[in-house]
Amino acid sequence: LEYRQTGRGIHSAVVLDRSGIIRAVEFKGMDFDDRLGWPHNDIVGRPFMCIHESHDIEQHEVASGVSRVCQRKASQFSYRFKVNRENLGVTYEMKVDHKSAESDDVIVTYEKVAENASVAQNLAKSPDIHLALFEHLPIGILYQDVTGTISLINPVAQRILGCGENLQGKSLPCAVYDTAGIEVPPERYPGSITLRTGEPQKDIVLRIAKEHSAGVWIQANSDVVKDVDSGACTGVLTSFADITTVRETQIALQASTERAQIAVESAGMGVWDWIPEESKMVWDKKLFQLYGYPNEYDVTANDAWHKALYPDDVARVMSESRDMMAKGLNKKIDYRVVLPNGGLRHFRSQARIIKDDKNEVTRVIGVTHDVTNDVMAEKKLWELAYTDALTGVYSRAGLNFRLSRSVARALKNDDRFCVVMMGLTRFKEINDNYGVSVGDKILTEIGRRGKSLMEECDTIARVGGDEFILVLESVSEDELAQFAKKFREVVLQPITLSDELEVSLGAAVGVSIFPDDGYDTSSLQTNAGLAMHTARQNEMQGFMCYSSQMSEEVARKFNLKYQLHGAVKDQEFQLYYQPIIDLDDNNKVIGCEALIRWKDNHGKFVSPMEFIPVVEESGLIYELGKWINFTAVKQWKLWQHLVPDLKYISVNVSPRQLENSRFVDELVDLLREHDVDPCNLQLEITEGTLLQESLNADSILQVLANHGFRIAIDDFGTGYSSLAYLKRFNVDVIKIDRSFIIDIETDQSDRDIVSAILAMNKKLGFKTLVEGVETEKQNQIVHELGCDSAQGYLYGKPTFADEFAEVYIGSGKIFTSQ
Ligand code: C2E
Ligand code: CA
Ligand code: CA
Repeated sequence: LEYRQTGRGIHSAVVLDRSGIIRAVEFKGMDFDDRLGWPHNDIVGRPFMCIHESHDIEQHEVASGVSRVCQRKASQFSYRFKVNRENLGVTYEMKVDHKSAESDDVIVTYEKVAENASVAQNLAKSPDIHLALFEHLPIGILYQDVTGTISLINPVAQRILGCGENLQGKSLPCAVYDTAGIEVPPERYPGSITLRTGEPQKDIVLRIAKEHSAGVWIQANSDVVKDVDSGACTGVLTSFADITTVRETQIALQASTERAQIAVESAGMGVWDWIPEESKMVWDKKLFQLYGYPNEYDVTANDAWHKALYPDDVARVMSESRDMMAKGLNKKIDYRVVLPNGGLRHFRSQARIIKDDKNEVTRVIGVTHDVTNDVMAEKKLWELAYTDALTGVYSRAGLNFRLSRSVARALKNDDRFCVVMMGLTRFKEINDNYGVSVGDKILTEIGRRGKSLMEECDTIARVGGDEFILVLESVSEDELAQFAKKFREVVLQPITLSDELEVSLGAAVGVSIFPDDGYDTSSLQTNAGLAMHTARQNEMQGFMCYSSQMSEEVARKFNLKYQLHGAVKDQEFQLYYQPIIDLDDNNKVIGCEALIRWKDNHGKFVSPMEFIPVVEESGLIYELGKWINFTAVKQWKLWQHLVPDLKYISVNVSPRQLENSRFVDELVDLLREHDVDPCNLQLEITEGTLLQESLNADSILQVLANHGFRIAIDDFGTGYSSLAYLKRFNVDVIKIDRSFIIDIETDQSDRDIVSAILAMNKKLGFKTLVEGVETEKQNQIVHELGCDSAQGYLYGKPTFADEFAEVYIGSGKIFTSQ
């Protein structure tokens, strides 16, 4: 009873008599009792040490220590020992002491010792420290009695819970929410639960709301406070820490993790995680889906990927990933995967390298997405840009792309390759006559035929309306010639457009060779084009390899063009005149042809055969033609009175002049101005001009004839017209081309042709003039055949006006118009 009143913290007590026999036992807790497993009254009357029989203690030391006190040989003895229960060691301190001076009885007390027993003991002795802790600990402390009334609250708790009100003696007033944001009723506060159930509450996260603020997040713990002696509950102690910062960071982190997850999910990305050292690859659910596996547990990721990779991509992907690991750089890798259903998809993986402190790659994390649609769209765009929609072969852009690759390859391998350019002839004519849809059909067919040669060539492209280019890699000169021949043959075969319509085209082929004829894509194409144009002029051959001479010609033409610009502006030209004689009237001069002459910068005559086409091309011919007509008319004006036999002056008219709508009116005005009769001006129009589709030759000739001009058809026999066709035109003279006269002395067929033309002319009422008579014999033949008039070196070469006047008009000095 005495001990009961004193012993704070004392667990159990045993009373011994002088001889160490147990006289009484008092247990306060269950531990000791359980440990012994004996009802306490059963040990009364037994020797003390039986209590400790099974304990891990120094049996002898304890026995002797206790008996020494019992025998009053020592006043006190104490001993610490540990009892292990359910993994939990409890340390007890045994103290042996005399009950009182008068009594022989010895009392043994057992006290539970905390590990920091000494600190706890010190604290117990220091109320100042208690108070300081209570006041200054950065956690909130709250003690409520059994009714829930706050009887102790420290400043931190007051600040967090108080809302400016002293809570001492009150119950909790604040609004409390759980992590889901739901308001917690007062009976569910941790303290309340503990009070009600006796159960401690651990690490409960709550939000204490305050007006106009997000409030404070706390993590609370509560436990009952028991009366030491009675063990009865006296209240509940709640402690809590302000975890607002941690919680907010946590919430923000969670939000950003969720955002990242949403981003990854909505972008349709799969995520993988590779630990190379362990050859461990983990895929997320999405990645399994992307690769077409219905269930992620069916396959192991690493194997599945290697097996699924498209065989052609394996070597490259492996080398790229080795490279990534070696350099330790993040990388983007594209590859194709064969899905379990056999489909082929394009993927792009973006890998991020993670390294340890030693800068070694420990882990690679990546996202993968299906880029099939992008790849397809890109391919479509590429096709649009690089292929010719009509024929399906490469476009010019596509050709440039292919050619630049050929150049790079040939440079690297020190190799040669050929650029073969093919231009259709007569295509424009057919296109104009039969319409664009027929033209398209022809081009499509040519494209198809070109593609049929693809085994032998690598690239075929359409580069202009009717021009195709093929690229041949590594061919010998023989092979090239054979190929060009074959290509031409393939193209020349008739094309059947419908049951009634079959067309045959002509083709000219030009070739340039890398590196001999050009180092870059553009010069190779230009030079193949030059060769093709040369081949076109040389229809018989149809195939030409580029030579530097062709470029020289182009350069010369360019230079000519430049010089001619100035010449037309400054009227640097001269007209020469060649006599035309009457074969029936003793070869008397009855007219002359005006022929243009021009000296280049070096003072050398350039043939009109060369420069007239250039003037035509640069669009200056109309201006030059006006000067020719003007000069010729003025010349005629001077000569007509002096020589009554001179009936006309003849000028050459280019088709480009006729195309100009002002031509007729301006010519009529010119004659009117100079008071010259149109019948004294002969206009020479070539047979080719009449055949030009773009010119409405029929009506122009009609108009000119109506005005009374003489019309001569020049170079007759070189075109494709027939005399019957000419009947439609109002023509005065047919000038038989020089090519029929050159060999007329020996060639019977030339003679036959000339007589046939003559016969027809007579029938149709045309006069006949022969050009290029150089010999007496020729003169005799054409006379005998019945030609009306003639022109040629035999009668007189073209010469400048003064000389012409002197020689052919006879009488000395004659004023010239130039
Ligand atoms: P073309 O109209 O057939 O002119 C006849 C050409 O044959 C002239 O050459 C003339 O000098 C040449 N010729 C005349 N008789 C003989 C001969 O017996 N033997 C030989 N071998 N040649 C002879 P040219 O003056 O060099 O003119 C060549 C071509 O240039 C002309 O052919 C014509 O198409 C064109 N041309 C000349 N002058 C003019 C012009 O003023 N305007 C236009 N638009 N073209 C012109
Ligand atoms: Ca002529
Ligand atoms: Ca002629």
